[in-house]
Amino acid sequence: MPLRVKPGSKVNIGKDFDPRYKPHSLKKKDGVELLQNGIALLADYQRRLAAQDTYGVLVCLQALDAGGKDGVIRHVMSGVNPQGVQVSSFKVPSAEELNHDYLWRYARRLPTRGEIGIFNRSHYEEVLVVRVHPENLDRQKLPEKEKGEGVWDRRYREINNWERYLSDNGFRLVKLFLNISKEEQRTRFLRRIEVPERNWKFSSADVREREHWDDYQHAFSEMLSATSTRWAPWYVIPADRKWFARICAGAVLAHTLIDIDPQYPEVSENIRRELGKVAAELEREAPEGASGDL
Ligand code: AMP
Ligand code: MG
Repeated sequence: MPLRVKPGSKVNIGKDFDPRYKPHSLKKKDGVELLQNGIALLADYQRRLAAQDTYGVLVCLQALDAGGKDGVIRHVMSGVNPQGVQVSSFKVPSAEELNHDYLWRYARRLPTRGEIGIFNRSHYEEVLVVRVHPENLDRQKLPEKEKGEGVWDRRYREINNWERYLSDNGFRLVKLFLNISKEEQRTRFLRRIEVPERNWKFSSADVREREHWDDYQHAFSEMLSATSTRWAPWYVIPADRKWFARICAGAVLAHTLIDIDPQYPEVSENIRRELGKVAAELEREAPEGASGDL
């Protein structure tokens, strides 16, 4: 099953993607090793990305509540140097944020070159929760004539253009939609209620949000159809099995880094000669009896 949403295709999330998918032969115990290998590979590529300092990567994670975003971040990024990663979580916008254009707060959290930025929720909330609950749009203080029916198509276009601009300037986007089934969300909510250590993750607002399940599925379908582009495609990750979702997320990120193929900067002949001289000087400074560990 391809995870990538073909640019230009019309998606019906409920029909086209199975949240429970995994290859028949893949078992959870094999998955552990696969994920470990993926994590090691990511760590190596991230070092090269940082050393080359030319490309940046922005991972956008979207999912319904209990979709597994936090777990993906915790596991997939567990091997990388924290200095090279920046995670940003987006909540209900603040008064200051609402006083700006809607992409402002996301633009402020973009990764630098050499960095992997992770958006835990992203600018896509602006065509998801804001679309499902239009009172969010009212709070955004748009001019009257700009908030009619055309606003969603306009936002898709603006988001595509923004992402194209980023990608043309060396920032690759990895857009992951963690696709869980309604039944899986129900059991995860129940666990959050039953297991005391998980209570903090549960909010009764999440259950009210669940009542809008179909509206969200519709908004996801429209979003995936309109914003999976050549320069920033969407990947729909089967997310009912956490372990498989994490492997898929790691694989898509790894694939992007392999495609960038960042290289350690070459040191020129001149600089190499210079380094040789410095090493010789340091050697001469060695006290009597010091081990020569060059
Ligand atoms: P959580 O990720 O569980 O901490 O919840 C964050 C909450 O912020 C979710 O209920 C989102 O729907 C909400 N949220 C995120 N972005 C926006 C936005 N742009 N407008 C309104 N609500 C948002
Ligand atoms: Mg929540």
